[in-house]
Amino acid sequence: MARALIIGGSLGGLFAGLLLRQAGWDVTVFERSSGDLASRGVGIGTHVELFAVMRRLGIAVDQSIGVPTGARICLGRDGAVIARLPFEKILTSWALFYRALRRHLPDACYRAGMQLEDVAQDAGAVSAIFAGGTRVEGDLLVGADGLHSSVRARVFPANPAPRYAGYVAWRGAIEEATVPPAGRELRESYTFFLPPREMVLSYWQPGADDDARPGRRRLNWIWYHPVHARELAALCTDAAGRHHAAGIPPPLIRPDVIAAFRAEARALLPPQYVAVTEATPAPFFQPIFDLESTCLAAGRVALTGDAAFVARPHVGAGVSKAALNAAWLTDALAAAPGNIDAALSAYERQARAFGTALVARARYLGAYLEDPPRAGLAPDPIPVMQAIGAPLREIPELAGTF
Ligand SMILES: Cc1cc2nc3c(=O)[nH]c(=O)nc-3n(C[C@H](O)[C@H](O)[C@H](O)COP(=O)(O)OP(=O)(O)OC[C@H]3O[C@@H](n4cnc5c(N)ncnc54)[C@H](O)[C@@H]3O)c2cc1C
Repeated sequence: MARALIIGGSLGGLFAGLLLRQAGWDVTVFERSSGDLASRGVGIGTHVELFAVMRRLGIAVDQSIGVPTGARICLGRDGAVIARLPFEKILTSWALFYRALRRHLPDACYRAGMQLEDVAQDAGAVSAIFAGGTRVEGDLLVGADGLHSSVRARVFPANPAPRYAGYVAWRGAIEEATVPPAGRELRESYTFFLPPREMVLSYWQPGADDDARPGRRRLNWIWYHPVHARELAALCTDAAGRHHAAGIPPPLIRPDVIAAFRAEARALLPPQYVAVTEATPAPFFQPIFDLESTCLAAGRVALTGDAAFVARPHVGAGVSKAALNAAWLTDALAAAPGNIDAALSAYERQARAFGTALVARARYLGAYLEDPPRAGLAPDPIPVMQAIGAPLREIPELAGTF
């Protein structure tokens, strides 16, 4: 049986591992973290294409998969509703998807605490070399190791590096029971607040134990906020003076940075969002990047998910992209049995066309948030509410790419 080594045990790695296993590959997923990944408690928007891959894996997609919303509203600075739009969407959580996928992969196929350090390959095999010196050989290696991919750095050194977009996403989620009375007005809708050069949004996601029922949910909020590149280094420096170039882990964000965030929230946001951000014990931020790989396949190695392309989150399709990449890779390998070169070339063509178009779309949606802003989507309530997380089939840039 042909052996696939998957580097990265997050959603992209799990999709690749499960689909290849279903297609008859002997699969091992290697994840550098030894902690519980399901504690990454953020909300995610979904697309029908993502659910199609879940169904292909035999994972039930029913009402427990997330929280449906039928409307979007936009608030003014005083908290009044200034625009409303019908919009069907299912919002869910990263943790729910992680658990649903992880349950389907036998423990013997998932090795935590394995940090890839190097990759070696020749015509007959590919080897993954891990910290501590462990070496594992296979027929195929999939780099599903995210934005700062070691596989990309080792095997594709000529690929462009991630490019900081000029803004960060401040984020948090609170249990429904702890949402203060002012915040309860955010209710069932997917809510926006769009002051000049900023974007704030919130939606309900499943809560603890993946419970999506009213009363048990979490309110997830995101605030896209311009931060000039020269200020980002200071934000990403911890109290011990250590700079975290790849993004600062949330517990290390300095108290003065969080205090400044809270002061800005009080000065700028409507009462609903002031209440909700105040009730969030540990808000954190993630710098936003663009990444466009020019090369996704070399010999027996392929890149998928965020290791290959990172589109700003406004399309809400990072997880869908990781799932589609895994499906296209599996299908290309099945269509060219015994011919990895042909299979990976076919995969690369499809994934590159889609990824390039997705990054372009997301840059257009986020152009007005950059510092300095660029021309792109008009930052008015109706165009923004129509465009953010729109169905993939309705996005002109993606036409013909999937
Ligand atoms: C603010 C924000 C909002 C978002 N909203 C949405 C949304 O609504 N919908 C959506 O679909 N997407 C959204 N995304 C994007 C989405 O989270 C990512 O696209 C998706 O998680 C990428 O999955 P991945 O498996 O490719 O990479 P990752 O989730 O980054 O996983 C990479 C894994 O590889 C591991 N790893 C890294 N290096 C090594 C190594 N050397 N050896 C072994 N393992 C390694 C890491 O520990 C990690 O577990 C959002 C992103 C942000 C920043």
